[in-house]
Amino acid sequence: MGSLDQTQLPQTATVTLEQPGSSPLLGLNLQELTDWVISQGQPAYRGKQLHDWIYHKGARSFDDISVFSKQWRSSVSHVPIGRSTVHLRSQAPDKTVKYLLQLADNQVVETVGIPTEKRLTVCVSSQVGCAMACDFCATGKGGFTRNLSSGEIVDQVLTVQEDFKRRVSHIVFMGMGEPLLNTDNVLKAIELLNKDVGIGQRCITLSTVGIRSRIRKLARHELQVTLAVSLHASNQNLRAELIPSANTYSLTDLITECKEYVQITGRRISFEYVLLAGVNDSPRQATELAQLLRGFQCHVNLIPYNPIADADYERPTPRAIQAFVNALQQQQIAVSVRYSRGLEANAACGQLRTTTQV
Ligand code: SAH
Repeated sequence: MGSLDQTQLPQTATVTLEQPGSSPLLGLNLQELTDWVISQGQPAYRGKQLHDWIYHKGARSFDDISVFSKQWRSSVSHVPIGRSTVHLRSQAPDKTVKYLLQLADNQVVETVGIPTEKRLTVCVSSQVGCAMACDFCATGKGGFTRNLSSGEIVDQVLTVQEDFKRRVSHIVFMGMGEPLLNTDNVLKAIELLNKDVGIGQRCITLSTVGIRSRIRKLARHELQVTLAVSLHASNQNLRAELIPSANTYSLTDLITECKEYVQITGRRISFEYVLLAGVNDSPRQATELAQLLRGFQCHVNLIPYNPIADADYERPTPRAIQAFVNALQQQQIAVSVRYSRGLEANAACGQLRTTTQV
């Protein structure tokens, strides 16, 4: 399948200036929507109806909401619901679908829908672009543009749900961006996805490269979501080579904070480790990783590298991957290998990149 890299968005598109008081409604919870309808002189029960149409019936504008009077619909027609438009949809042979979604200010983000027989997982973006600049990640090569609002995050899930005509069961914050650099909006989105869309917190995974003191803060929120931490190296020097932010937030500090997280929450952490041939994939490094994680309630998720345009890394051979797995298992470390789906649509881990940033 052709890559989406030649995509161009119209350069001439204008940004619509919002009228005062017309911020998008998607992102407001039931109480906030009820307060809003009351502020518009409507009875409180309209709040529940509006909520239902926005979160469960796919309303994209007030015109769609047939239970409201024509008169009221036209008086609030300038208020945006806050839905994106699908600029591009690209399906891989394994049925994974990558979407390029165009936001109100014409920025684009990527979202991936990953179906299996029992699950429909959405890989959501938390930012337009990413500031972390990890050396093996396509998103990082494009730089950072802006944070996504909670509504823009929820919109991605609704879009996939509507397109697949099937309920989304799982969400992973593994698209573009670093969720813990947009913590407030990400936490609000998790709450909306849980309470307003109806997705169990235990079916939500937040993946972070680790931002100083934010993992500890997250622990205090007492969420049921799974925390995944991108480790990618078994020692400080190599990690700092691959991940610029590791230069100022050491591996020791990160691991200490992760241990506190486990202590506070009682939940185990999943450590992600991108396998790069000849860089971090030797059995000796597996042993070093096992030592680093000894006595820790955790799980290691190995991600064989997915090739991207501007990096020279290679994916290890199946034999090298197996040797790494064996070395970890010998040290009693729980491990799994994630073969990313959607490779052919450039939709796999680390391949997400908006073309406006090329
Ligand atoms: N900012 C978050 C989410 C990133 S995407 C984080 O760093 O965790 C989710 C995972 O894909 C991360 O572990 C990321 O390091 C990994 N990844 C990035 N580029 C990759 C690539 N080219 N191949 C395989 N995995 C990659």
